[in-house]
Amino acid sequence: MFRALVLDQQDGKTQAQVKTLQESELPDEGVLVAVDYSSLNFKDGLAITGSGKIVNQFPMVPGIDLAGRVLESADAAFAPGDAVVLTGWGVGERYWGGMAEKARLKADWLVPMPEGLDARAAMMIGTAGLTAMLCVMALEEGGVTPAQGPVLVTGAAGGVGSVAVAILAGLGYEVYAVTGRPETEAYLKGLGASALVSRETMLVKPRALEAQRWAGAIDTVGDTILAKVLAETCYGGTVAACGLAAGFNLPTTVMPFILRNVRLQGVDSVMCPLLRRQQAWQRLAQELPAAALGDIGHSIGLDEVPDYAQRIVNGQVRGRVIVDMSR
Ligand code: NDP
Repeated sequence: MFRALVLDQQDGKTQAQVKTLQESELPDEGVLVAVDYSSLNFKDGLAITGSGKIVNQFPMVPGIDLAGRVLESADAAFAPGDAVVLTGWGVGERYWGGMAEKARLKADWLVPMPEGLDARAAMMIGTAGLTAMLCVMALEEGGVTPAQGPVLVTGAAGGVGSVAVAILAGLGYEVYAVTGRPETEAYLKGLGASALVSRETMLVKPRALEAQRWAGAIDTVGDTILAKVLAETCYGGTVAACGLAAGFNLPTTVMPFILRNVRLQGVDSVMCPLLRRQQAWQRLAQELPAAALGDIGHSIGLDEVPDYAQRIVNGQVRGRVIVDMSR
C-alpha cells in the first residue's frame, strides 16, 4: 500500500485527494520506482485545479516530475537501487505521475541521477530548472555572451525564472529580472539579478521597435510582455520563449526579426530528446550555484499540494516547491 494524490472528475470539476493505493493499481510499465520527491510546476497547478486542459483521463496521478530509486526493472538499463530522475514525456498528464510514493514508468523516460545531485536537489530543479537551462543553451546557441550586454528574464520570481536568473548570473551575465512582485527584490538580487524591471512597465503596448536594451532574454510569460521584450531586443539578439503564464497570444510585428535580426527560439522540455536532456542535467549539476537551490526551493507534503496548486496558478508561489513523500 502507498499514498498517492489522485485526480478525479465530479460534475465536470477536477477533485484532488490523497488516497491509499495498491501496487497492482499502477499502470503496466517496466520500471517500478520508489518516489522520494516530486515537485510542483505551473502545469501541475493547472492539472490539479482543473483550470487548464492538461488531464483528459481520470483517475490520474499528477506530477510531471519525480526523483527516486528503482525498486524493480524489466529493462536492463536500470537495476534496483539506481537513483533516477524524470521530467516530462506526458507523465502526470497522460500517464500516472510523480505525486505518489510509487510509480511505474517506461525506462526510456528515466535519466540516471546526474553526479553531484540527489533526489531533493534534482526536484528543486525539476522541469522548471531543466527548462531554464534549455533556455540558457538556446541563448548561447544564438551567440549571446555576457560581453554583449544585459539579459532579461520575465516571470523572474517563478520557478523557471528563478533558476534562469541564478544560472545566468553564475555564468557572468548582467541579469535584469521582470517581476510583478516588488517584495521579491532581495530574493532576486540574492540569486544574482542586477536590477528589477516592474511588470507594469512591460505591460505597456510596445511600438514595433523600442530602444535596444537586451542582448538576449528568457520569457516565461508570453503575450504583451514577450512582444515588448522582442521590441527591446538588441540587433542580433536571441529571445528564448518557454512559457505562457500571462497568456498564449503574441501581439507583435515582424519588425524585430527583419530589421534587427532578432531570433525567437521556442523551448520545450517535455519531448526534449534524451541526449540534450542529459547535457542540460549535467550542466545543471555543475553550473547552478548550490547556494541558489537553498534559496529557490522549499518543501511541502503530499497533503499540501492541492492548496499550493491553487497558489501557483494564482502566481503566488515564489521559486520552486518540492513535494517530500516522507512528510
Ligand atoms: P510559476 O508560476 O512558478 O512562475 C510564473 C511566473 O510568471 C510568476 O511567478 C510570475 O512572476 C509571472 N506571472 C504570473 N502571472 C503573470 C501574468 N498574468 N502576467 C505577467 N507575469 C505573470 O511557473 P513556472 O515557472 O513553473 O512556469 C512558467 C511558465 O513556463 C508557465 O507558463 C509554464 O507552463 C511554462 N513552462 C514551460 C515549459 C516548457 O517545456 N516549455 C516547462 C516549464 C514551464 P513574478 O511574480 O516574478 O511576476
